[in-house]
Amino acid sequence: MSNFVTQPEWDKALAAVSSCSSVLLLAHVTPDADALGSALGLGLALQSLGKKVQVSVGEENFEIPSSLSFLPGAQLIRAPEVLEKTDLVISCDVSSVARLGTALEILQAAEVSIAIDHHPSFTGFGTIHLVDPGAAATAELVLEFIDRLEVSLTTEMAGAIFAGLTTDTGSFKFSSTTSHTLRTAARLVDTGIDNSTLSRLLFDDEPLAALVMMGDAISKAKLLPDAANGAGLVYTSVSLEQRNALPELAAERVIEALRRTSEAEVSVVFKQADDGHWSASLRSKTSVDVGAVALAMGGGGHKYAAGYSSTLDLAESIELLIAKLANTAI
Ligand code: MN
Repeated sequence: MSNFVTQPEWDKALAAVSSCSSVLLLAHVTPDADALGSALGLGLALQSLGKKVQVSVGEENFEIPSSLSFLPGAQLIRAPEVLEKTDLVISCDVSSVARLGTALEILQAAEVSIAIDHHPSFTGFGTIHLVDPGAAATAELVLEFIDRLEVSLTTEMAGAIFAGLTTDTGSFKFSSTTSHTLRTAARLVDTGIDNSTLSRLLFDDEPLAALVMMGDAISKAKLLPDAANGAGLVYTSVSLEQRNALPELAAERVIEALRRTSEAEVSVVFKQADDGHWSASLRSKTSVDVGAVALAMGGGGHKYAAGYSSTLDLAESIELLIAKLANTAI
């Protein structure tokens, strides 16, 4: 149970669902398994209540990335260009309007919209807020919503929710993992989901080209032991050229390898998007609040996992980040 979302807010959300006949669920741009799994899990639940459900992401001609195509409910996904108008819009795991991409207008035009999120940097858009920074994943809040809607949880819904929960907790390793998280996971597994196949597809399944790209990026990593007030920084980058024909999403996983570096509290991967601009993924372990750093750079996230987009070139982006970390308390 969320201790953060108030009863009146839950009541508003339940009323919004009961009075609507069609729903659009939006995940954030460059969606991860928490954003899409939450949208799909809730989408399946709303469909079981007889609602007409569409799921989308505000990217031109969006299609589910192949790395997440196995998620239950994927058949609900539509490109933003072909969406039909709905009477309720729900955003999942979206911390700011910038993360809605081209779907921003759709959300703003909606009379009623629910934001379900767990980012401390949530900026407060939408008319109803199911937002709890203490939740390990947006998927955890989605499960509570489904319970409050008195929908009986199917294996498919549970699979989509489990995908969000396990990825956002780093396979139940991060400090956000509580006994409640583990009990939630147990309940999801009890519905009959194939935990081992899902986990393999989520964590341990990549084309060789993506592993080679990761190896290349790691081999070029730089360690600055004095950065972040002596806590240490390790960083690398993945340019368009290094990524070659791989999708943007392939570069997202480089940080998961780099953050293991013993000598550095902070790890950063600068990734070049298809349009050429650079964005940064940040991770920390125990002492540095990279969420605050990302927020100061115009992005957002969590204390130990965050990101932002840069308008500078790579060398300037690195320089600015090092300067920012020097002013960060540890
Ligand atoms: Mn999340």
